[in-house]
Amino acid sequence: MSKGKTAKGIAIKQIEMRRCVACRQARHKSELLRVVKNSSGEFLLDTSGKAQGRGAYICKSEICAATLKKRRNLDKIFKTKLPNELYDKICAAV
Ligand SMILES: [Zn+2]
Repeated sequence: MSKGKTAKGIAIKQIEMRRCVACRQARHKSELLRVVKNSSGEFLLDTSGKAQGRGAYICKSEICAATLKKRRNLDKIFKTKLPNELYDKICAAV
């Protein structure tokens, strides 16, 4: 069946893969949680995937959230000490 397909349909849209900062696995954006530092220097969980700012991704997995909290990976990425409550928020969100 080739219903609705055209030659142009062959081009595969590039899948947006991102790397989890805890386990280093590349996953599709929809499987990841994004943490963003906005222009005011605030850290937030970007659930829409559209927030402006520097972002880091983590798997929606309790294991990765726990690893992240233990190693404080985000401190290194954002070059600043992130509040414990942010790590707690991540653990609660996954
Ligand atoms: Zn992960």
